[in-house]
Amino acid sequence: MNKDDINSIKALFSSPKAIIIIPHKNPDGDAIGSTLGLYHYLNKLNHKVTIIAPNDYPDFLKWMPGESSILKYDHQKNESDILMANAEIIFTLDFNALGRIGDMQNIVSTAEGIKIMIDHHQQPDDYATYMYSDVTMSSTCEMVYNFIEMLDDTDHIDSDIATCLYTGIMTDTGSFRFRSTTSGTHKIIGNLIEKGARNSEIHNNIYDTNSYSRLQLLGSALSNLKVIPEYRTAYITLSQEELNNFNFKKGDTEGFVNYGLSLKGIIFAAIFIENHQENIIKISLRSKGDFSVNELSRSHFQGGGHTNAAGGKSDLNLNDTIDKFISILPQYKQDLKA
Ligand code: 5GP
Ligand code: MN
Repeated sequence: MNKDDINSIKALFSSPKAIIIIPHKNPDGDAIGSTLGLYHYLNKLNHKVTIIAPNDYPDFLKWMPGESSILKYDHQKNESDILMANAEIIFTLDFNALGRIGDMQNIVSTAEGIKIMIDHHQQPDDYATYMYSDVTMSSTCEMVYNFIEMLDDTDHIDSDIATCLYTGIMTDTGSFRFRSTTSGTHKIIGNLIEKGARNSEIHNNIYDTNSYSRLQLLGSALSNLKVIPEYRTAYITLSQEELNNFNFKKGDTEGFVNYGLSLKGIIFAAIFIENHQENIIKISLRSKGDFSVNELSRSHFQGGGHTNAAGGKSDLNLNDTIDKFISILPQYKQDLKA
């Protein structure tokens, strides 16, 4: 985003506008944190702002300031369609292609409002009027902070905005440990704490609200963990039956894939989760170092993301998906072999 873009956006913001903010489908902490952080900021500038999420998100995000005002497109379609038709500005946050917003794709691509993308995923599509895309950023929340800073408005950051942005930076960096965490990230985190983000409480709200059944589900996932030492790879499977046995709720499997990656010597981890309702296997991929799970997911599993964290899906059944996964590993032997 250059100086001209910022000046144009400043001019746009100089009178109250009808604004919509959209995160990706199955929003995570960064998607909800960044949309809410931007929402509170734009409200302070006296705009009329609505967040429309394609669908619901996990309970562990449902304490965030302003969260209850978020519309869910799959349940509030009519209301959302009217707002979309009247929107003068549409922010799209934490995704790089309109395919990532599911059933909202058509309405957003045909909407007249000026589109502003803020996102850190690789290979972004070219649908926005103004694009702030930076794959070196830890999180979209870090970028919303920078966006507010570029508009010379960090004075507007209050404890609500700080709390939302802190949350997304924390969740997208695995609590500040992934390679994407820079000194710049930590400086912003320091500023957010100064502005009123209560770091210890936020950590508690996100990570220490496990249900008993979720821990049992984790036990089941870990007992399914398989290791392929020659490719420094580990993977986990969860069948729909196992999910049902442990009363699965949205968000319960968040972070499970990281256990595979925590094994000594493992640089590539995957989790395959059966979803009968959508008739797919949902896949999460993680890596260490230069091995790109974004590339692997794009090439084989209809997905994408970042170098070290990506997602995708498979239309095969669980067993066939695993067979496919194992059969493609030799293509990556250069990177994966010890
Ligand atoms: P997760 O595995 O936590 O669901 O996602 C990891 C990263 O990959 C996130 O940045 C997410 O936005 C991206 N991602 C997850 N699923 C998909 C997908 O189906 N398609 C694409 N393009 N990206 C995905
Ligand atoms: Mn993100």
